[in-house]
Amino acid sequence: MPVYVVGHKNPDTDSVTSAIAYAELKKAMGMDAVAASQGDLNPETQMVLDKFGFSAPEQVTDAAGKQVILVDHGDLAQAPDNLADGELLEVVDHHKIGDVTTNSPIFFYVKPVGCTGTVLKEIYETNKIEIPKNVAGIMLCAIISDTVLFKSPTTTEDDKKACDELAKIAGIDDMEALAMEMFKAKSAVEGVPAKDLLFRDYKDFDMGGNKIGIGQLELVDLSLVADIRDDLYKAAEEVKAEGRHSVFLMLTDIMKEGSDLMAVTDDPSLVEKAFGVKLEGQCVWVDGMMSRKKQTVPPLQKVLGE
Ligand code: MG
Ligand code: MG
Ligand code: MG
Repeated sequence: MPVYVVGHKNPDTDSVTSAIAYAELKKAMGMDAVAASQGDLNPETQMVLDKFGFSAPEQVTDAAGKQVILVDHGDLAQAPDNLADGELLEVVDHHKIGDVTTNSPIFFYVKPVGCTGTVLKEIYETNKIEIPKNVAGIMLCAIISDTVLFKSPTTTEDDKKACDELAKIAGIDDMEALAMEMFKAKSAVEGVPAKDLLFRDYKDFDMGGNKIGIGQLELVDLSLVADIRDDLYKAAEEVKAEGRHSVFLMLTDIMKEGSDLMAVTDDPSLVEKAFGVKLEGQCVWVDGMMSRKKQTVPPLQKVLGE
């Protein structure tokens, strides 16, 4: 029976490349591991896989009857459905400890670094397995993506060091050029339905019994979404109407290093309480806001509860 290595729902580059990179490591160690993703690839991930010669992993959204390894998440809300009816073998992640539980001890490896790719590099080294050139390439891209080329406050020295070493293995001389190529791919919004953009990088959270949805669009320039703001807001309203307390969309300007935070919420004062800036109309600019995990979720949890 194959073991599926799978990243979170609404897969980002790290969750897809980490599934591939860890499945490769596990195969090298004799496991029948298969990389999987829980959905279609975003344009950045597609560009990254094309560049280093990988095809899209198999799609797996239901864990019933399957053996699975989770990468880049440890939350049931992010995991494949019916995880309790499957067997969870391992978790490799860089987020806060989530709510997955097991009946027996498992390999559970989580570090507070900027990317699962950084954690995987360490696991490769621990196991003395050489990282193949193209695998190093996609791991490098994952770290660039998750840390926004080290601009995100989630970035650690480990991430930078891992990137330097992975770039050498992958034969990448100009990391900034690679990052720009990725950011441009990531910024592709033209012709994409607003709801798909909202869900491109989206997570639901339970905060004090309230369901809170937070999406993020990372853009090289906010002018890219100037004409579709109303459509995005309408999409957020629709998603909120499905029974959520609030839906946020971080329109992150990678270059200016901040986010225009779009909010559809039962309690508009929540924005000011959490972020110290007042919501007027659809959005408010939050200077320096780059990371959902570090800068958006914790302040909201502080107000609403965990
Ligand atoms: Mg991720
Ligand atoms: Mg990640
Ligand atoms: Mg991200």
